[in-house]
Amino acid sequence: MSDAAILRSTDGEVGILTVNNPPVNALSAAVRTGLGDGIKAFAADPAIKAIVVIGGGRTFIAGADIREFGKPPAGTSLHDVIAAMEDCPKPVVAALHGTALGGGLETAFGAHYRIAGPQARVGLPEVHLGLLPGAGGTQRLPRLAGAEFALEAMVSGRHIPAKEALSKNIVDKIADGDLLAAAVAYARELVAQGAPLRRIRDLPVKLGSPTAIEDFAKSIARKARGFKAPWNIIKTVQAAVDLPFDEGMKRERELFAELLTSSESAAQRHYFFAEREAAKVLDVPADTPQREIKTGGIIGCGTMGGGIAMNFANAGIPVTVLETSQEALDRGMKVIRANYENTAKRGGLTADQVEQRMALIKPTLSYDDLKDADVIIEAVFETMEVKEGVFTKLDAIAKPGAILATNTSGLDVNQIANYTKRPGDVIGMHFFSPANVMKLLENVRGKATSKDVIATVMSLSKKIGKIPTLVGVCEGFVGNRMLRQRGVQSAYMLEEGALPQQVDKVIFDFGFPMGPFQMSDLAGNDVGWRIRQGKKEKEQRNVRYTGYVADAICELGRFGQKTGAGYYKYNLPDRSPIPAPEVEKIIEETSKKLGITRRAFSDQEILERCLYPMVNEGAKILEEGMAQRALDIDVIWVNGYGWPVYRGGPMWWADNVVGLKAVHDALLKYRDMSGDPFWEPAPLLKKLVQENRKFSSL
Ligand code: NAD
Repeated sequence: MSDAAILRSTDGEVGILTVNNPPVNALSAAVRTGLGDGIKAFAADPAIKAIVVIGGGRTFIAGADIREFGKPPAGTSLHDVIAAMEDCPKPVVAALHGTALGGGLETAFGAHYRIAGPQARVGLPEVHLGLLPGAGGTQRLPRLAGAEFALEAMVSGRHIPAKEALSKNIVDKIADGDLLAAAVAYARELVAQGAPLRRIRDLPVKLGSPTAIEDFAKSIARKARGFKAPWNIIKTVQAAVDLPFDEGMKRERELFAELLTSSESAAQRHYFFAEREAAKVLDVPADTPQREIKTGGIIGCGTMGGGIAMNFANAGIPVTVLETSQEALDRGMKVIRANYENTAKRGGLTADQVEQRMALIKPTLSYDDLKDADVIIEAVFETMEVKEGVFTKLDAIAKPGAILATNTSGLDVNQIANYTKRPGDVIGMHFFSPANVMKLLENVRGKATSKDVIATVMSLSKKIGKIPTLVGVCEGFVGNRMLRQRGVQSAYMLEEGALPQQVDKVIFDFGFPMGPFQMSDLAGNDVGWRIRQGKKEKEQRNVRYTGYVADAICELGRFGQKTGAGYYKYNLPDRSPIPAPEVEKIIEETSKKLGITRRAFSDQEILERCLYPMVNEGAKILEEGMAQRALDIDVIWVNGYGWPVYRGGPMWWADNVVGLKAVHDALLKYRDMSGDPFWEPAPLLKKLVQENRKFSSL
């Protein structure tokens, strides 16, 4: 029976059920059925006095088998397994190590007692998939740990370490030494004591303050905006407080079903898989040999270089940072230290950890110190001349096989690679600002980039705490190239009759953290202004000039938040934006100068004009092979640009919420209204519509 999902064995009068479904003992149909059968068999066996349920290998049941979601139920249901444990006439002990998450922890809640290894972590993370614990977790956790704790734990979905779990009665004991031996000993002890068969369902729910649930709901209002699951979780806890157990379970089932069929959860489940898929490169097999990365080098210790260096230090990889002057070096290192010290002040690091991390970052002015680096990332000024200088030097000093990466946001990675005699070793690593915080990494594959370099950089990205994607060389890569489309239309809409606050509200209400004009005020309007001034021609790439309003605003020194004014005024202590009549005047004057009669905009039109061009650009990106799959684009937008995860990403949203035909037809409508070739649907979009297919089918 060694290939069975549940192994049965005995240690004297204790029956042992070992979950055997590597790698993480996911709750498959076979596991559920095996567990249910095992409990019944031991319950019926007069030689057995108590039962231990434990995970084989490195973990207890790490969670549900989420690939079973949406499929017709097979085998014994988890509810029945838990009921079998709970109703078992002999004490059942769950022994937890590794992670007991989601359905795994709910299974353990069926046991009468729980013992955990000191390193075990438990949790109910269903919220991350837009769901709630649907096998009694919402009714049992409040009975063990109190309503307040249950709310926080289920809405955050966080992992709870064993010690904390013990303090919250989620586990009854922490094991010393071998977990199975400790669990068997615990089971014997319970039998010897004649300990009661403690069913969690029979315990009362603890509620600290009568307004706790209401207060909690208020406290998450901002963070949970647009999501469905946190609100349904709150309702389940309310039910646990108000209703008898069986009625609470009924409520849990209803609220779970509501989420399971919701578009929000479908989007979040898509995203969950997308993030994992995005790390895989279609033509670079998983077994591609990788280069060893033991040390790193960073060129430039400015905004980006400093943040990138911190990522290496945080991962324990020593890194050398090079600057052009002692002053710049000192300034950069000072910012890094200040960042760490701020984290320490907030309790995120100890003073020792700050010093350990600082010790991993070695400042230098000499390229000689980079001779041994396994990977060197350039983050200097964004001009081709400076990049040329840096890559020529790197080519001369870097050891053979070193990976040479550029953090350019807009320059041609192929051209940069050609400044070296080893273009196969050159790749783009496009970090986002602040580089020590933002998780997204667009790794940019050049024409010559070799596969082992790609494989190494994709896995290095994960090591330094990033979510990697792979994109091709094109203007703006994937994220900024699509963002530009939204920027173009937002600018035109101001000229045609909309105001910044109206556009921003529509984008905020869609679920972004802020709209395009607030974002521009935050990033600094002067950045784009200087770039536009550098360009002689005002008309580019068939796109009508977009800078009339933005230029006029910058001419008044309204660079954004940093000057207290931009598209908005910022004189409140919390820096909230206040609409500015002066800006309204500038906008109206611009319309007049351009001979445009201002008109009213509906929210729907604003949304369509902001987002559909992004989808259209995404189609072009896919057609050109600049992203591997539609899901990579979704990962980039959710992670780097604040696209709400409960809307899956722009391509998933177009596929599943709007429908490609609706996007296509709207593009045609705007093309005909404006006569602007900007709106021409991408050939790929046209083709998919004709064939009634989705981006996800590519
Ligand atoms: P920055 O001006 O803050 O920093 C650049 C640093 O490079 C400065 O400290 C400068 O002294 C140093 N430097 C300049 N020439 C050098 C040389 N020859 N050798 C060594 N050091 C040199 O700029 P940043 O915002 O950090 O941008 C750096 C790169 O990252 C650019 O290519 C930029 O396009 C890209 N990038 C920036 C962002 C962002 O949001 N700031 C985002 C993604 C990518």
